[in-house]
Amino acid sequence: MGTPFEWAIEEIRRERVRQEAKWGRQLHENRTWLTIALEEFGEIAKAMLERGEVRKETIQTAAVLVAWLEDSFERGEFAHEETSEFNDSAISVENQAKLRIKPTEAPT
Ligand SMILES: [Mg+2]
Repeated sequence: MGTPFEWAIEEIRRERVRQEAKWGRQLHENRTWLTIALEEFGEIAKAMLERGEVRKETIQTAAVLVAWLEDSFERGEFAHEETSEFNDSAISVENQAKLRIKPTEAPT
């Protein structure tokens, strides 16, 4: 049941849970996240060249990008960027404090 979109999101969610169980909460600078993400993209290319598990590697790459976004939300990084109704302005002042985001950094 479900749509391809729902399957994809569910696979990414499962991979995030797996990553968190394996590595714990990951907090990195953006350049480190970018390096991790590019390594994962490289694994997609390698899987394509070697008839490996392209879908699995693609899911892992997407999950790393999600983890990077999670970390950026928690750090308030890129908070000036308009994203969606779920951007940092939707985070209460109380939760901003819990997430270490200064209220002044939240978009107005
Ligand atoms: Mg991989």
